[in-house]
Amino acid sequence: MTTTQFEAVPAVAGDETRPPTGLVVMKFGGTSVAGPERLQAVARRLVAAREGGRRVVGVLSAMGSTTDELFALARSVSPAPDPRELDMLVSTGERISCALCAMAIIDLGHAAVSLTGSQAGIVTDTAHGKAKIVEVRARRIHEALDRDAIVLVAGFQGVSTEYEVTTLGRGASDTTAVALAAALAADECEIYTDVEGVYTADPRLVPRARKLHAVSYDEMLEMAASGAKVLALRSVELARNHGVRLHVRSTFVDADGTWVTEEDQRMLEKAMISGVTHTLEETLYRVEGVPAARLFSALAAAQVNVDTILQTGPEIVFSAPVTDRQAAVEVLEGLDARWSATDELGKVSVVGAGMKSHPGVAATTFATLDAAGIEPQIVTTSPIKIACHVAREDVDRAVQVLHEAFGLSSEAAERAHA
Ligand code: ASP
Ligand code: MG
Repeated sequence: MTTTQFEAVPAVAGDETRPPTGLVVMKFGGTSVAGPERLQAVARRLVAAREGGRRVVGVLSAMGSTTDELFALARSVSPAPDPRELDMLVSTGERISCALCAMAIIDLGHAAVSLTGSQAGIVTDTAHGKAKIVEVRARRIHEALDRDAIVLVAGFQGVSTEYEVTTLGRGASDTTAVALAAALAADECEIYTDVEGVYTADPRLVPRARKLHAVSYDEMLEMAASGAKVLALRSVELARNHGVRLHVRSTFVDADGTWVTEEDQRMLEKAMISGVTHTLEETLYRVEGVPAARLFSALAAAQVNVDTILQTGPEIVFSAPVTDRQAAVEVLEGLDARWSATDELGKVSVVGAGMKSHPGVAATTFATLDAAGIEPQIVTTSPIKIACHVAREDVDRAVQVLHEAFGLSSEAAERAHA
């Protein structure tokens, strides 16, 4: 008989009525820990939460551009680095920031301990570079919390069921934080970053973009999947599945940020569109001469993250992240199909929970693009999203005109509490 000495990520959604546990997971991104002074400031924030009476788990990213540098270093030694060794290498960045932060906390007179993903009990599957968390064995974290320590967990990594160090994909410290918040039944998961929250559009493109007070899990999922960079997609999925309340906020400004929670009336009535997102980082493929079943199972086996799929007659069109291009091309070459790939298109998406109950969003979208002389090449929809592939050079303008058309520069777009 096997006994389970750990707690898995709970399989049920969080119970709204459960009493608070007093535990908070605080995640800090790469910019927030980019140097010694910033690490000391993060240490002070974690200590302040502890002194406020909470049990504190910190999840840190690697300092600044460390992870990029580690990937570049690997490629300077080997053009296609061995996946296991690559994970051994790139997982070190988070260890550095956690160890340094723990030292800074100890100097502030508090107990602290840093843990690798493996030591923290983050168990994953065996897919190096894009491993998925299968369970969290949180015993060691609980023990440290019970000793009153602030626990620092290295983001972005775990240990596989084959006992190898794995990483969870770029940006996945968010995923580590949410998985821990779920497993530890945290009251909330705070994501500290270099922006003040989730905006109605990228403020670099739309200076009048508004910071949203609240978005629903489903909206955030669509926004993250269609180009919003503020949260890793997988972390939002986990948060939704486990009812983890997320608070995205700035490390550098002490203001409330954006809450990602269950859908409420504000989202359906006050501002039915939450935002306009965009991405240039997609490749679009056209394939003929191979059945869809064979094509997509081969792509899945090669771990290609397919997004949009369109089939009309014998032609199949699909999109996938540019980072998956090499894998996709290998699959297509192996299938004896006729195919082409282009990076000439970008995607602009209008997202909002209110779309479900308010007609006319599609009409406004198309009329607005048409008036701006922008022709959508491919249109795909979900119940709360309309996505248009347009020429790359039209993407910025498409975002701007749609943002205006849906009134997203107005105060109501913020969805403040009544
Ligand atoms: N450091 C990792 C990355 O750059 C993970 C993270 O920061 O979320 O992808
Ligand atoms: Mg990130």
